[in-house]
Amino acid sequence: MKLSDLQSDCENCLGLCCVAPPFAKSAEFAYAKSEGEPCRYLGEDYRCSIHGDLAEQGFTGCVKFECFGAGQKVTHHQFKGLSWREDHLTAKRLFHIFFIVKTLHQKISKIIGNEKYEKKVYELERLSFLSEDELLTIDINQATSTD
Ligand code: SF4
Repeated sequence: MKLSDLQSDCENCLGLCCVAPPFAKSAEFAYAKSEGEPCRYLGEDYRCSIHGDLAEQGFTGCVKFECFGAGQKVTHHQFKGLSWREDHLTAKRLFHIFFIVKTLHQKISKIIGNEKYEKKVYELERLSFLSEDELLTIDINQATSTD
């Protein structure tokens, strides 16, 4: 797995992180939005309309956020370009798988490069390519455990 596979590639994603997670109003996010609600600044083109101005507008949380490459993988691999705008059920399924793959990728990014965890990285990478149905059967805590 390349390190670049563990970094967000927003050009190849459909804005999943701007819709899926809830945000509380805070110093890092200027207004509150609920889970699955598209951010008011997300454009029809799935791009952030204030991207160049995030910190100034009170969205430093977005600057810091990293999906660890889960967004582009789920968009293209598991969902073949299907958008969360399709319908409510598709959105729910997509966001659920996004969080599972993000957790797998985040764990890989923590242990990649450590010889001790070489096999674990391969296993987590294999899991991250599973289909939606297969991903729903895994125990994510057990899968990402290195104890
Ligand atoms: S402010 Fe921009 S980057 Fe942050 S959630 Fe909204 S659309 Fe996404």
